[in-house]
Amino acid sequence: MTAQRIDGKAVAAELREKIAGAVAELGERHGLVPGISVVLVGEDPASKIYVGSKNRQTAEAGMVSTQHTLDAATSQAELLDLVHSLNDDPSVHGILVQLPLPDQIDSQAVIQAVNPAKDVDGFHVVNAGRLATGLPALTPCTPLGCVILAKHALGDLSGMEAVIVGRSNIVGKPLAQLLLRENCTVTLAHSRTRDLPAVCRRADLLFAAVGRPEMIRGDWIKPGATVIDVGINRIPTEDGKSRVVGDVAYAEAVETAGAITPVPGGVGPMTIACLMRNTVVAACRIHGVTSPLDS
Ligand code: NDP
Repeated sequence: MTAQRIDGKAVAAELREKIAGAVAELGERHGLVPGISVVLVGEDPASKIYVGSKNRQTAEAGMVSTQHTLDAATSQAELLDLVHSLNDDPSVHGILVQLPLPDQIDSQAVIQAVNPAKDVDGFHVVNAGRLATGLPALTPCTPLGCVILAKHALGDLSGMEAVIVGRSNIVGKPLAQLLLRENCTVTLAHSRTRDLPAVCRRADLLFAAVGRPEMIRGDWIKPGATVIDVGINRIPTEDGKSRVVGDVAYAEAVETAGAITPVPGGVGPMTIACLMRNTVVAACRIHGVTSPLDS
C-alpha cells in the first residue's frame, strides 16, 4: 500500500483564500480590518524568516500586519511595556511574541501579560483553560492545523482512536483537547510511555510531535492509519549540507499508512494560516460581530 499524501501547502492555501474572503466581508459590512502585531526580540535567523512569512501572508489576505523588532538585549520590563501598549491599541486584534525569547526574559511572564482576547497563539492560561473546559477559545495554531489536516483526509473523526506522541503545552496537550472535541478516544504518549511502538500501533490517527528525527518507524503504524507529522528536524547530509525531516520515518511509513503528511509541506504551512484565522476570530469577538470563519 502507498499512502495518500496529505498536501498541507494546498490545504493552507485554501484556508488563506477563505480568510481573505472573510477579511473582505468584514471590511465591507463592518468597516473592520483585522490587525496583528508581531514582536521579535533579537536576531534568531529562523524566527526572522518565519516572522517575514507571517507578515507577507497576513498582508496578502488584506489584514494589517505590524512588526516590532527589539534588540536582543531588551529587558523584560521594556518588552512588557510594549505588550501592554499593544493590549491597549484598538487597531491590534492579535499579538504574537515570537519564541524563543533571550535568556534575560521570562517567556511565561510575557505570554501571560498578553490580553487573552488578543492571544492569537492561544498560549495564555485563560485560553488553555477555556479550551479544556469546552468554552470558545483562541486555540494554538499548530494543533489546530493538525486537526484541519486530519479532517481534510478523513472527514468525521468521531470514535477514532487517536494517539499523540509528545505532551508539550504548545502542541501535544492542546491537540488532545481538540481531538476530544472531535469525539476521538485520545492517548497522549511521552518519554515515559511504556512500549511506545505498541501504543502507536493502536492508532487510527497518529500524531508525532516529539522533535526526534524519524523516530517513529513504519512498523509502529497500523495498516491504513492516518499519520500527521508535526516534527521539524534539520539533519546533516553527506555532502555537508542539511535537510529537514519529520519525527516519522516517511519512506517506511508511506508503505503502511493510509494517508500521511510530508515534511516539509505538511503541518508547517498550516501554522501561519491558522494564526491568520485566529486573528480574524479575535477581531470579530472583540468587536462583537459574527465571524465568517466560525462555522
Ligand atoms: P517539546 O520538546 O516541547 O516536547 C517534546 C515531547 O516529546 C515531550 O512531551 C517529550 O516527552 C516527548 N518525547 C521526547 N522524546 C521522546 C521519546 N523518546 N519517546 C516518546 N516521547 C518523547 O517539543 P514541541 O512540542 O515544541 O515540538 C515537537 C516537534 O514539533 C519539534 O520537532 C518541533 O520543531 C515541531 N514543531 C513544529 C511546528 C510547526 O509549525 N510545524 C510548531 C511547533 C513545533 P516528555 O514530556 O516526557 O519530556
